[in-house]
Amino acid sequence: MSESYDFDLIAIGGGSGGIATCNRAGSYGARTLVIESDPVLGGTCVNRGCVPKKVMWYGGAMAHALRDAEGYGFDVTVNGFSWEHLVEKRESYISNINNAYANYLGKNNVTIVHGYARLTDANTVEVDGKRYTAERIVLAPGGHARVPDIPGKELAVTSDGFFHFKSQPKRALVLGAGYIAVELAGMMQAMGTDVTLGIRKESFLREFDLMLQEKLMDEMLADGVTIEKQFSVASLEKLSDGISATTESGKQVGGFDAVVFAIGRSPSTGDLGLETAGVTVDERGYIPVDKFQQTNVPSVFAIGDVTGQAELTPVAIAAGRRLADRIYDNQEGRHLNYDLIPTVVFSHPPMATVGLSETQAREQHGESITVYQTAFTAMYNSFTSHKSKTAMKLICAGDDEKVVGIHMIGLAADEMLQGFAVAMRMGATKRDFDDTIAIHPTSSEELVTLR
Ligand code: FAD
Ligand code: NDP
Repeated sequence: MSESYDFDLIAIGGGSGGIATCNRAGSYGARTLVIESDPVLGGTCVNRGCVPKKVMWYGGAMAHALRDAEGYGFDVTVNGFSWEHLVEKRESYISNINNAYANYLGKNNVTIVHGYARLTDANTVEVDGKRYTAERIVLAPGGHARVPDIPGKELAVTSDGFFHFKSQPKRALVLGAGYIAVELAGMMQAMGTDVTLGIRKESFLREFDLMLQEKLMDEMLADGVTIEKQFSVASLEKLSDGISATTESGKQVGGFDAVVFAIGRSPSTGDLGLETAGVTVDERGYIPVDKFQQTNVPSVFAIGDVTGQAELTPVAIAAGRRLADRIYDNQEGRHLNYDLIPTVVFSHPPMATVGLSETQAREQHGESITVYQTAFTAMYNSFTSHKSKTAMKLICAGDDEKVVGIHMIGLAADEMLQGFAVAMRMGATKRDFDDTIAIHPTSSEELVTLR
């Protein structure tokens, strides 16, 4: 650690990655500074991502539970739903997390500065005219939602705007085909909004296993979401009955009181002073890094969404912690392995995936793969009028049938995958799954009894 700098480490961005890096480095005694341009800490995940999203997802799940209650003998009359109440409680929950983050950083002696940071050289950052130097700088500015450059784009919001909705839209159009599009469409529909989801192709979440795409499409249609395929929006306009969208092929759908773009995110690297410090970006603006998260400039590192690899909170956190372990706790060689990252889409029902899709497994392992799958009605849904199917797929490769992919959709899939992901990381084979005693009666037992 060098005394010739103000700090040992400066993180630009007080989101998942920047905070985790500084906390871990600070816990080893490093002098750290985190700079955040928002007035609060926590970044995308806490303030306009995972956390508010999951609260709203629970709202949707609650609506479904109320719908299902009749099947279990309850005579339930729902007198109303207050979006305002849920949003107010959500924001107060988030404010507690903001405070907890500040306290935890304080415990690790991390200095916090609020303001927009720019690099002025490879060891210096400027915020509101004040300069701070550090031996190392970690870039963790995350990303922002993309907005298509079409006429009427100002009539729509992105996921950021969705979390500012003060009242529930009656009719909403969600445009996009990734995580955010299906999550927002699903939760709004569950809570009573009449949702149309406009996708450019025939399916959504196209990088996921085909089974998941197909099953989720069935479930969303059964929940009442209107799915417009081959829907490439060309313009939006405000008409007397609400916002109307017209596609490139001339199709028009209208009457919406909210339109949400969820067409992907871009790295927030535009105004970071990267050129001044000599840090290169790729053609899409992401910062390339080596396996130690190091950029082309030795004193500058990058973690999280800005690197364009698996844009998930636990990934940003894990990369930052490993970086701090290596540099400030002499854990030589420690770095994040980006293989086998489990992920959940908080759709209704949720879907969970780790490893290779069947298509990817065939590409990588050819005919040596074995696919085991099942689809069934979970016990819970045997009593409900709204039927929902659970589906699971286990993909194995080679003579020893090493598990290379697990995919599932259905009630509780979101909570089921974590332990299976540990097993996969440890190199589990189909035989290991078979030799594991099932937990009965559950849905997860199906994964260890597949034939
Ligand atoms: P961020 O969390 O975005 O933090 C970057 C911070 O840097 C921001 O606070 C920003 O204000 C600040 N900043 C930017 N530029 C500067 C600057 N020049 N100076 C100072 N500060 C700056 N991931 C999951 O794992 N699970 C989920 O369920 C999930 N749901 C999501 C739902 C939505 C709607 C969205 C948008 C994302 C979701 N994600 C989810 C993704 C997750 O939020 C991100 O992967 C994660 O936040 C990335 O962390 P980060 O540290 O790279 O960036
Ligand atoms: P994604 O990258 O997941 O998906 C965006 C999709 O929108 C594209 O794949 C594309 O699908 C479609 N699209 C792209 N451009 C256009 C366009 N011009 N018009 C219409 N559709 C378009 O982005 P998201 O914004 O949904 O999420 C960003 C990232 O945040 C995710 O990748 C994920 O890493 C993270 N996240 C994680 C969550 C979780 O863990 N549960 C939840 C939310 C976000 P196609 O080519 O099929 O049209």
